[in-house]
Amino acid sequence: MTATRSARARKAGVEAGALADVSIDLDAEDQFVYKIACTVCKAKGHRAWSTLRKGEDNGYLAAMDRWTFHLVEKHPDATAPCLSYLPAAQQRLHERREGPTR
Ligand SMILES: [Zn+2]
Repeated sequence: MTATRSARARKAGVEAGALADVSIDLDAEDQFVYKIACTVCKAKGHRAWSTLRKGEDNGYLAAMDRWTFHLVEKHPDATAPCLSYLPAAQQRLHERREGPTR
């Protein structure tokens, strides 16, 4: 279990790129909770930025989408494999906003 979790965290870390610090927790239902922290924002002494949102979907895709948007907004010069999924991430964001739940 632990090996699987750290293997997933490493894989996500590769996708997220060099600025990301990825870790995975388990929630109350033993679901993986992905946390991606920004090492640049942390190093600058700002409040550490992380993808984790209380009460929201913190699965792989949701966390990676939020991280991708953070990179685009705050670190436009950065490169990371996840940036190639930006159009898909924007599409998902759009679908969530257009969703019927509100
Ligand atoms: Zn940052």
